[in-house]
Order: sequence, then structure tokens, then C-alpha cells
Amino acid sequence: MLSCKICEKVWPPSDHYIGNLGMTRAYLFEDQFFAGWTVLILKDHRTELFQLTRDERTKLIEEVSRAGEVLTEIFNAKKINSELLGNQVPHIHWHVIPRLKSDPDPLKPVWCVPHEAVRLTASLLSERILVLRSALGLSLPSSRFP
Ligand SMILES: [Zn+2]
Repeated sequence: MLSCKICEKVWPPSDHYIGNLGMTRAYLFEDQFFAGWTVLILKDHRTELFQLTRDERTKLIEEVSRAGEVLTEIFNAKKINSELLGNQVPHIHWHVIPRLKSDPDPLKPVWCVPHEAVRLTASLLSERILVLRSALGLSLPSSRFP
């Protein structure tokens, strides 16, 4: 198997871990220019939806949907972008991105909106993760790291 940034735990950074949703683990994306941008990482290494069973796909889309609903409530999003691409990191992962009223270019996908990356300070990062954890009904993990 080719090397995989996700399986090798190179990405996403472990201090961005939100919690275990079942089929996936949720992380806050490093760039928070689009506030609340979350990534759901499939626990198993699969690269295409058709490699999952119907039941797995159903559970997966329920988790993506739940994350989008929670992000909408927390960030008062006008729209949620749910993206499964995998061109750079083939291991299945969904980007769940709230698009807010303040969005500089709401008609474009985030990848096409030029912006300066926003890295949260450690305290803001922890705060945002705790808010998401609570909203997702996740108990605090015994360790911060998955
Ligand atoms: Zn992988």
C-alpha cells in the first residue's frame, strides 16, 4: 500500500482532535479562516465510497450530516459544504465547512477563495474543540489523542 498521511498519523494534527463519531474521527481543520471547518476521517483506510458496504455508507453520511447540523447551529451557517475529494489524500475524509454570512465569496468552493490561513491560538483551539465536542454530545476522551 502506498503511504498514507492519515494512517501514518501525519495528518490531521492530533491536537485538533474533536472526537469519535463512530465510523469517523472528527478534527478541526488547521485553517480556521472558514470558522468551524471540520474534517471527518474514516477510521479504516478506504479510498472510494463504493468500497464501503451500504450500511457503512449510510452510517458515514449520517455522521457527515450530523456534523453539518451541529456546525450550522454553532456558527449560524448559511450553507454547509460537505466535500469528499481525496485528490491529495486519497484516504476517505470529508471536509464539512460552514459558509457564513461574512463569507468573502459564497459562490465559490473554499479552495478557490484566496485567503490568509487562520491558525487559532492554543486556547482558542481548545475552546472551539470543547464547544464542538459538547454540541456533538461527545464525552471527554481519556486522552486528547486518538
Ligand atoms: Zn489511510
